[in-house]
Amino acid sequence: MATNDDNETPTIACEVCLTEVPASVAQTAEGPDYVQHFCGLDCLERWQEQGEKTKQKPD
Ligand SMILES: [Zn+2]
Repeated sequence: MATNDDNETPTIACEVCLTEVPASVAQTAEGPDYVQHFCGLDCLERWQEQGEKTKQKPD
């Protein structure tokens, strides 16, 4: 009985909070060679902040 998947919108898991959201409403951010998905702008911004912290190495 694998009928559920046919008509359902594909979902993706948010990179930050791991919430599954429909791909059509997910926020995306392109990395160096991949695309990250997020449930909303909150998580997208949080992820970007973390990335910037990682980039800027305190010397
Ligand atoms: Zn999220």
